[in-house]
Amino acid sequence: METIANQSGFPVIQHVIAAVRDNAASLSEIDGAIGDGDHGINMSKGFGMAAERLTDASCSLSEGLAVIGSVLLTEIGGAMGPLYGTFFRAMARESQGCAEIDAKVFESMLQKAEEGVASLGGAKVGDKTMLDTLASAVEAFRTCRRDGLGFAEALCVMMKAAEEGKDSTRDLVARVGRSSRLGERSRGILDAGAVSCWLILTAMGQSMIDLLA
Ligand code: ADP
Ligand code: MG
Repeated sequence: METIANQSGFPVIQHVIAAVRDNAASLSEIDGAIGDGDHGINMSKGFGMAAERLTDASCSLSEGLAVIGSVLLTEIGGAMGPLYGTFFRAMARESQGCAEIDAKVFESMLQKAEEGVASLGGAKVGDKTMLDTLASAVEAFRTCRRDGLGFAEALCVMMKAAEEGKDSTRDLVARVGRSSRLGERSRGILDAGAVSCWLILTAMGQSMIDLLA
């Protein structure tokens, strides 16, 4: 299959929520190295609240994304609440009204999520943030589509690119956000938001591949 029924997309939401909650401790540990150590706490609180509101398994992919987006945007503080809130809301907005999610729709979901995060946070690629993961993933997915790869194959390449983007933050100096105060001392450690973004995109990609099979 080359499309996912929006109405059958709830497993994607469940996987994304589980990925964040299962990795909360390690996300906080990573944030603790060059930030304030709350990234996993913020993330699992937000995704946990979303999970409590998402008990109806007949909820569509777009509806699930919208619930996560509004909980993060309105109830979670720190840098991450508004940024990921924007990310998930943009994805919800781009997909709502589409009965089937194909690669073209997913590309625009990714693109709008990236644009939203970039315009809200003002970060650029290379600033050592979640955007390093996201931009790498979006670019890879776009290239796959242009080259005529199938949806599942493009998702695989996207996940690899997200991982590379995440890994690239290790050698970068933070230029925005809390860890930028450390300057050169932020080099040598992964960025927590880049790691959470990789976890989210991997959970999303893998569960979509499973639905496409
Ligand atoms: P806080 O920095 O308020 O403690 P979190 O720990 O939840 O918030 O999130 C930190 C993460 O947010 C960073 O690792 C980084 O990836 C991301 N981040 C911070 N500021 C920005 C920004 N302006 N643009 C994009 N991402 C950002
Ligand atoms: Mg923090």
